[in-house]
Amino acid sequence: TTQEDWTRSDQYHNSFLLPPDETLDAVLKHSTDSGLPEIAVSAAQGKFLNLLASSIGAKRILEVGTLGGYSTIWLARALPADGELITLEYSEHHAKVAQENIDRAGLSSKVKIMVGLGHDSMLTLHPDPPFDLVFIDADKPSNVKYFTEAKRLVRTGGVIIVDNVVRYARVADPAHTSPNVEGVRALLHAIKGDKEVDATTIATVGDKGYDGFLYAIRK
Ligand code: SAM
Repeated sequence: TTQEDWTRSDQYHNSFLLPPDETLDAVLKHSTDSGLPEIAVSAAQGKFLNLLASSIGAKRILEVGTLGGYSTIWLARALPADGELITLEYSEHHAKVAQENIDRAGLSSKVKIMVGLGHDSMLTLHPDPPFDLVFIDADKPSNVKYFTEAKRLVRTGGVIIVDNVVRYARVADPAHTSPNVEGVRALLHAIKGDKEVDATTIATVGDKGYDGFLYAIRK
């Protein structure tokens, strides 16, 4: 099976389950036109995050790694009128493009972008009220630091999702030692035996190749 097959597979499923969405198309176009890398979650993954946030009735969401705000918009669309999403981004350029995209999606009143190093921003946040959902999708070597703060900020029973934890099965292959792969390994080592969370990895394949989410519940 080739990547083309998996892209076609995602398109087939999406044609039934994801209605055409001019806003999200425009968001991706604006991001690409502005020179952002095409590393947002796939449409199917974005919708998964949206459904997950709806399922747990999320009112407060934290995201680490905004890029152009694509996953931000999927998540924020699940919020009730008085819901709030805080998203953390290091690059001022990415944050500017994301703000334009969030404005376009009509979500400015619910979404706040904090520009700066994700970990520094997390340290300034308080769990009062706590977050219901944290989505970690920034620099992978910082995964453990982000996860540690996410545990502090999320409510009991809340959800922490970490993206890109499978990486074409390279995380499980000792021959691969890139900082991104090592960042995921360090997270797995940290979670093993951690009594404060219960977690699983779900490998995914589709538009964005072979990868996976780590899904954790705060105990
Ligand atoms: N969540 C986005 C989506 O699916 O649409 C994709 C995020 S992209 C994979 C990662 C983002 O994290 C980039 O925009 C990058 O600039 C940002 N980033 C990298 N290092 C960071 C750091 N130390 N603190 C905050 N953001 C960082």
